[in-house]
Amino acid sequence: MLRYGLTAKKKLGQNFLIDAHVCEKILKAADVQEGDVVLEIGPGIGSLTQGILERAGEAGQVVAVELDKQLVGVLGDLFGSRENFSLVQDDILRVDLAAILPPRRDVKVVANLPYYITTPVILSLLESPLSIRSITIMLQKEVAQRMAAKPGTKDYGSLTLAVQYHAKVSVAANVPVNCFLPRPGVDSAVAHLEILNKPPVDVDREIFFRIIHGAFGQRRKTLLNALFAAGFGENKEQLAAAIESCGLSPSVRGEALGMEEFARLAEALGDLHKL
Ligand code: SAM
Repeated sequence: MLRYGLTAKKKLGQNFLIDAHVCEKILKAADVQEGDVVLEIGPGIGSLTQGILERAGEAGQVVAVELDKQLVGVLGDLFGSRENFSLVQDDILRVDLAAILPPRRDVKVVANLPYYITTPVILSLLESPLSIRSITIMLQKEVAQRMAAKPGTKDYGSLTLAVQYHAKVSVAANVPVNCFLPRPGVDSAVAHLEILNKPPVDVDREIFFRIIHGAFGQRRKTLLNALFAAGFGENKEQLAAAIESCGLSPSVRGEALGMEEFARLAEALGDLHKL
């Protein structure tokens, strides 16, 4: 950064990784193999890029998307001569990924992005028609815990289910603030999302996620009251009967229910939603 006269731009969430052990843990979790196609989002000054390029090898392809024009210049100097590297200066929330990635190839994603865009980026990657195999991403620690949470815990909620509907989630490393330059204000963690071949439950997705948002929108309410407030059922008796038909108590709280139980509710409550 000194050589290029650069300072970190706060508005682009630039906290660069300066700890080799953490870089190694991320690369290990991402499991980049010879010949892989890797999408790196927010490569910064290349702390992870070097290792990704080495692991993907000459047969692989690394596509990096970086928003900051100055950093694109630096990355071009560092890695521009490598045939297996392409660099795109764009906003990851706007770029057409299908146009910059090689067609019909599985993709592993590695990202360390500003924390205010990590959740929308993950959700849009999970919903995208691209063939994404895994996402290994630095997150605010609490967000990583929410994505990996189990039912009945305080971290469990609609984000957990939105992510676990598509992926098996693990926390690969906890990363303290001193691993970055400059130091961020919050602790971080690396989450690894292994994308599932198909969702773990076979449901009408719209109803399924409406139920989940209804149940967690009002966390302190019973399932009956939360879902009634979210527009399910003509009256509470009808809704209570439908909930009981799933083998659940209407007085249970949403946070106690696993994916399977929400799937049963989606089956039973599909016709009860007032649009
Ligand atoms: N990966 C590097 C590392 O680990 O040191 C940099 C991480 S830094 C937290 C985030 C990087 O994402 C910065 O280089 C920043 O310029 C870039 N960035 C910020 N917003 C972006 C966006 N919308 N699209 C692509 N890159 C973005």
